Amino acid sequence: MLPVSPANLVKVEVVLPLAISKLYTYYVPEEWVSRIQFGVRVEVVFGKNKVYAAIVVNAIKEHEQVSRQVKPILEILDDEPIITQDQYKLWQWMSDYYCCTIGEVMSAALPANLKISSETQITLGPLYDGNMKGLSDKEFIVMEALRENGVLTTHQIRDLLERKTVNKLLKGLLDKKLIYLKEDLQRKYKPKVIKCVRLTPEYQAEGAMVKAFELTRKSEKQTATLMALLQLSRTQDHPVRRKDLTKMTERADAASIAALVKKEVIEVYDLAISRIESYDADLVETNALSAQQERALADIEAAFEKQRVVLLKGVTGSGKTRVYTELIQRAIERGEQVLYLLPEIALTTQIVHRLQKIFGDQIAVYHSKLSNNERVELWKEVQVGKPVILAARSGVFLPFQNLQLIIVDEEHDPSFKQNDPNPRYQGRDTAVYLATIHDAKVLLGTATPSIESYQNVVWKKYGLVEMKERFGGISLPDIHIIDLKEATQKKLMQSIFSMEMIQELKEALAKGDQIILFQNRRGYAPVLHCQTCGWHQECLNCDVSLTYHKFHDRLKCHYCGFGMSIPEACPACGSVALHLRGFGTEKIEDELKIYLPDANIARMDLDTARTKNALLRLINDFEEKRIDILVGTQMVTKGLDFENVGIVGILSADQLLQFPDFRASERAYQLMTQVSGRAGRRKKQGKVLIQTYNPAHPVIREVIDNDFDHFFSREITERQQFGYPPFIRLIKITLKHKKPDTLNQAARVYEHVLKKKLGSWVIGPAIPYVSRVRSYYLLDFVIKLERDAKKVRYAKESIELATREMKKTPNCSGVRVGVDVDPM
Ligand code: ADP
Ligand code: ZN
Ligand code: ZN
Repeated sequence: MLPVSPANLVKVEVVLPLAISKLYTYYVPEEWVSRIQFGVRVEVVFGKNKVYAAIVVNAIKEHEQVSRQVKPILEILDDEPIITQDQYKLWQWMSDYYCCTIGEVMSAALPANLKISSETQITLGPLYDGNMKGLSDKEFIVMEALRENGVLTTHQIRDLLERKTVNKLLKGLLDKKLIYLKEDLQRKYKPKVIKCVRLTPEYQAEGAMVKAFELTRKSEKQTATLMALLQLSRTQDHPVRRKDLTKMTERADAASIAALVKKEVIEVYDLAISRIESYDADLVETNALSAQQERALADIEAAFEKQRVVLLKGVTGSGKTRVYTELIQRAIERGEQVLYLLPEIALTTQIVHRLQKIFGDQIAVYHSKLSNNERVELWKEVQVGKPVILAARSGVFLPFQNLQLIIVDEEHDPSFKQNDPNPRYQGRDTAVYLATIHDAKVLLGTATPSIESYQNVVWKKYGLVEMKERFGGISLPDIHIIDLKEATQKKLMQSIFSMEMIQELKEALAKGDQIILFQNRRGYAPVLHCQTCGWHQECLNCDVSLTYHKFHDRLKCHYCGFGMSIPEACPACGSVALHLRGFGTEKIEDELKIYLPDANIARMDLDTARTKNALLRLINDFEEKRIDILVGTQMVTKGLDFENVGIVGILSADQLLQFPDFRASERAYQLMTQVSGRAGRRKKQGKVLIQTYNPAHPVIREVIDNDFDHFFSREITERQQFGYPPFIRLIKITLKHKKPDTLNQAARVYEHVLKKKLGSWVIGPAIPYVSRVRSYYLLDFVIKLERDAKKVRYAKESIELATREMKKTPNCSGVRVGVDVDPM
């Protein structure tokens, strides 16, 4: 590549997958110079003999002598770049915007298989069958050692082979799927297999077909089956699935296949296939667009002429998904790539299925439950142009070639924000930046826009397209308020249910309607409480009360997972009058069973739907009406589409409204509107019942009237008045340490530096709502800034300076600093 004379060494700058802020320089031994290029991984030593795979982002031709400190790279791991220049641009922007290191972005972005380090644990792959044929001597030694030891680190493998670098060798074994990174196995990688059909070796020989047809002469069905197989093998570029055969001719049924197998003409075998490629159900035709959808589509395309980002504000059930699929279809026809972002939880549900039915193998799904191998497979598919990627926020990291459209569905959803660890990024906002890199368009879709996005419409930064009617002309649900104050006074409460609610539920059940009950458990979970002295159990590691979990009959911490059994008597005063206070989904489920003994009741929350399968089973059971009442947390609000929900009940609206956070109203409006939207979607109008002590609360009125404009104008005025986003920018800094004294000392230094630089913009240090988590004490600073790029830059530099100064203070080097830009 670069013509280099011996004196002119080539240096490279690399990104290491670590929380270090700069690029590091290594030199390239002469014989490898021609193979160095942007985006390839190289193996380098960093620190005390630790070896990492780093990515080359800059090759510099140097004329002077390389100084002695510069170390050589040990190996080049790739012949082709594994990242694109565009990806690197995004990494740079994220590290700059979200105040983290580029190494941290790299760690978040790359699938684990592409980031081997000396600590990485290697183990035998589940596909390894003891067959050592075709392995090199070195590979053989590694496989033998793994067979004996089970697990080895790459460091141990290096010692074993007495070689400095082994990653290339490991990469080869990984590609052959003979070994796996250890964490993969914890995810229980099971390859999906499909049944395929082929000629037995005997009949694959030339001229053998004559004999085969001789054998099937007497059976018309078998002859037809065999002919279908031959034809498919000639015309298809993939192995013949048993299904293909049966589809081709109905004479190829189980009996005739079995007969041919028995005659040893054909064989049926299992083919392990990539799960990402595995969708092979029958595709469905898409429905015709409604008039409203046609118009929305035309408006979106017109708006894209003028603006990069368009907000599609469509009421729940208006049919936004069908608009997305049309846009996707058109993009595919033009040979473009589309990224479709969804909240993580929605990714495991119905929407994926719906899209797969339309787009089949043109769509791939990227989410947190994939194994490392699946991630790498998908990564490579995107590199070669997979048209549609359905993903949670981390989809922004994929190596797109020709990205032209990004759809962010449920754009208001807080789960687009990664809160911990770094990079603490907002997936929606990052997607908008990603689109500028690719010169692509962004469609943000929701029934309840975030205040930020809608204000961007007001500022004319984003275009706006609306869909105000539900698909099929169904009315929005009728929302009815149940006044709990009144019900309590009149003694019309049965525990947490008003009699009116119970009565409505009974009537709905009698009509055969299904019901969704929503309870946001956060902050209102059942707590064990001593009626004599007021004692309640705190977590030993965190500053929160433990929550009672009936299923395990234990008290548990929702922050760190700490658990303990129920004390017989109050540890403080010895009283046995211990009672549960507050209610969560689990308690609701229990009480409902008392009032509605004949109903089938199920619960959907993080405890019952932790795995994808558990969640799918719940959804499926509800769809097929094996469940009458689904009690759930926010999970039930996310993009579910059931056809038979007559009633949606919100058991405590007040809980939603009483959060000590400037976004409380926004969240409450979104949650109530979204969960209401689950009622009456296909056939008839649904009903929503909201229990509250504050029937006159403005947000509740706005939800009832479906009056987003009113909600927005009230909310935006408050934000402006009190100095909150989107009018100003927030940066939150959290300091953490196990010793409160050290933490306080560090905070004083931090405060001093920050206030000297930024003055009254700095608020804090303040003790957060939960002040101790996992044995670490916490202190927060918040910086409020004008929306001015220069000032923001200056503030970020001041934060870096404060961190450096604080770390230099005696005892304080161990204090951890978390910086959260645009916290949510
Ligand atoms: P949203 O995402 O806007 O809440 P959905 O996309 O889930 O709404 O659509 C609501 C319902 O209307 C779904 O059951 C969907 O299948 C149906 N639907 C939407 N558009 C069409 C169409 N063009 N033809 C037939 N059914 C449609
Ligand atoms: Zn007590
Ligand atoms: Zn805890």
